[in-house]
Amino acid sequence: MNKADFDLNNPLEATLKLMLASGRFPHAVILEGGTVAERLTLAKKLAAALVCSAGKAEAPCGVCSHCKKAIADSHPDIPFFTAEDKPRAFKVDFVREIRNNAYIIPNEADKKVFILENAHTMGTEGQNAILKILEEPPSYVNFIMLCSSKSGFLPTVLSRATVFTIGEAKAEESDENRAAAVEAATAIAKSVAAIDDIEIVKAAAVFEKDAKLLKSALPVIQEVFAAAMREKYNAPDGGEEFGSLPEELARKLSRRALSDLIEACDKLMLSVRMNANHNLMLTALCTTLRKAVSK
Ligand SMILES: [Zn+2]
Repeated sequence: MNKADFDLNNPLEATLKLMLASGRFPHAVILEGGTVAERLTLAKKLAAALVCSAGKAEAPCGVCSHCKKAIADSHPDIPFFTAEDKPRAFKVDFVREIRNNAYIIPNEADKKVFILENAHTMGTEGQNAILKILEEPPSYVNFIMLCSSKSGFLPTVLSRATVFTIGEAKAEESDENRAAAVEAATAIAKSVAAIDDIEIVKAAAVFEKDAKLLKSALPVIQEVFAAAMREKYNAPDGGEEFGSLPEELARKLSRRALSDLIEACDKLMLSVRMNANHNLMLTALCTTLRKAVSK
């Protein structure tokens, strides 16, 4: 286990790893929540994975020169900008510097990864300036913006970045919610493991009149699929509360199908956070699950 690598027991890190492995990682991400250290550690793992010269599925390998420099904070293609956590501490001058730097091609890696700490403290002028690069970033550029809460960002900036919340699933649920979410998620996972379209629709019917249950069940559904994925990689860990389901899913579904499911859960969770139409979400969930079993 290399120390640059993601912790696959952590649903968020497992999701990020899969998104990176799929080669469809967003240009701009916002990491909110957690502690300052948690955000920075995760940002560094992401940056290492993006510059790593091993294959996408292996990154961050922890042993290539890119990973080593990323871990040692000495990679020339991972510019780091930081500001205090107070209004407008992230100066517009920083943003101008970032803009100029972004258009210079990377020195050593294929990517250039900007880590912006306390990026939410950018004033409106700074955010409008960064927005211009987020709208049309050079293909090799990635932005990882860190903040305690995304609420400091302008909606225009948020619309061009994918927000990931550290530790969200734990903070939001009570034991009672968790039990209901596990029950619903288990039913869904069973129907997928049964490779049965009709069972999937039946299992999803429980969410029809309960948007809150869907919100709390989605991360759990993702956990089951992530546990199945770990089985695929012969690294079973966690997921005991789902019994033999992860193993069964691993046996019946391909890595591709599991990866698609985990990613789809992520998109659905984002849609829930953005208050997307509940019925459309439910349709999207069923379509995703049925697609996975049809492969
Ligand atoms: Zn590497």
